[in-house]
Amino acid sequence: MKLILLGAPGAGKGTVAKMLTEIDGSVQISTGDILRGAVAAGTELGKKAEAAMKAGDLVSDDLIMGIMEERLKEDDCKSGYLLDGFPRTIPQAEALKTLLEKMGEKLDFAVEIDVPRDVILDRLTTRRTCTDCGAIYNVKSNPPKEEGKCDKCGGAVVQRDDETNEAISNRLDVYNEKTAPLTGFYENEGMLLKVTATDSKTVIDAIKNKLG
Ligand code: AMP
Repeated sequence: MKLILLGAPGAGKGTVAKMLTEIDGSVQISTGDILRGAVAAGTELGKKAEAAMKAGDLVSDDLIMGIMEERLKEDDCKSGYLLDGFPRTIPQAEALKTLLEKMGEKLDFAVEIDVPRDVILDRLTTRRTCTDCGAIYNVKSNPPKEEGKCDKCGGAVVQRDDETNEAISNRLDVYNEKTAPLTGFYENEGMLLKVTATDSKTVIDAIKNKLG
């Protein structure tokens, strides 16, 4: 399958993407994970992205499109992909459309995961992430078996730099201003599936249903 996952930070895009990869071997492509990897490795890309990320602002469209043009050409994308956290602006959505046309590719649809703001805020402040494999935990509902250590790979499980109250509030504002309009964009393209749900299983079932 080839899907775009839309939704506010904390809506569950990453969790849903990871569950979908197990269905048909599609790969999860998270621009946030790619950027965090680049920051941790201290690459040029990481240096360019770091300040914006820490403040909860968006990284420039040019930088993101450069990453995605390369990523979508990789071999593992042949089994399908789940775009998690990309596109995030109308210019990115337009550039993606042009890129896919050039590559002769067609997406199945875009999924909007719609979750109430109070649930999002609670999730983001209690979320913890593995710095190695990206596995997602929650201190209240799904803590790692051993505190601070990933069950899956043994990596360090930490609170992300951009999960301070200030950065979270900025990320939600940025989402409403820059990313929320994408649902209208994909609705106009006749390819939007909106799911209002706080549990990932409902989202997965709606996606499976639409894929038929
Ligand atoms: P995420 O893990 O998807 O919440 O992304 C973390 C941060 O990486 C965001 O707050 C942005 O600073 C940056 N980022 C990730 N994806 C994009 C994108 N498609 N466009 C611009 N910035 C992005």
